Amino acid sequence: MDSTIKYLRQPVADFRNPFLLNVGFIIHETIGYVREFPFEFDTVSLPPDTRLNNLKGLVRVTRTAQGLLVQVKMQAEIPAECVRCLTDFAQLLQIDYTDLYAFNRNSVTETGLILQENGKIDLSPAVRDEMLLAIPISPLCRPDCKGLCPTCGENLNELSGEHEHLGEVTDQSNVTASPE
Ligand SMILES: [Zn+2]
Ligand SMILES: [Zn+2]
Repeated sequence: MDSTIKYLRQPVADFRNPFLLNVGFIIHETIGYVREFPFEFDTVSLPPDTRLNNLKGLVRVTRTAQGLLVQVKMQAEIPAECVRCLTDFAQLLQIDYTDLYAFNRNSVTETGLILQENGKIDLSPAVRDEMLLAIPISPLCRPDCKGLCPTCGENLNELSGEHEHLGEVTDQSNVTASPE
């Protein structure tokens, strides 16, 4: 039993591509067998040009009659700029998707994914696509970001209390500071 556990705990990810999973051994398991691959990286690159920080998540691989069902749940951060206050911040991205890697053409789904003969699954193209899709069109540093003052350009999030400019053209006739 101990030897089995040791085998399962062996690193399954290629250090050059942590998203390359060695799943060949699952093919020989019975239908319904599940193997989970935890992911956690401070920073990780997805070719050609995507870099993610603080990535963590879980990949569940289930042996089915048709192939290997791969369920991916991950989150990561990507550098972004707030559209309101123009501050750089870490945008949280969350992905949750399922793909079937079919044993043969008869079982293939609309994704067209077929398990390669080397028994490896490279998740990086799908993870990259899903992460890029998760990037909001208008990133906000926080949902209630106050943005920049239209008059002076100060970041209103960083100013406490009311922020006003003397001499602003308003309907309020409270400009009584001028001497008679
Ligand atoms: Zn902002
Ligand atoms: Zn201002």
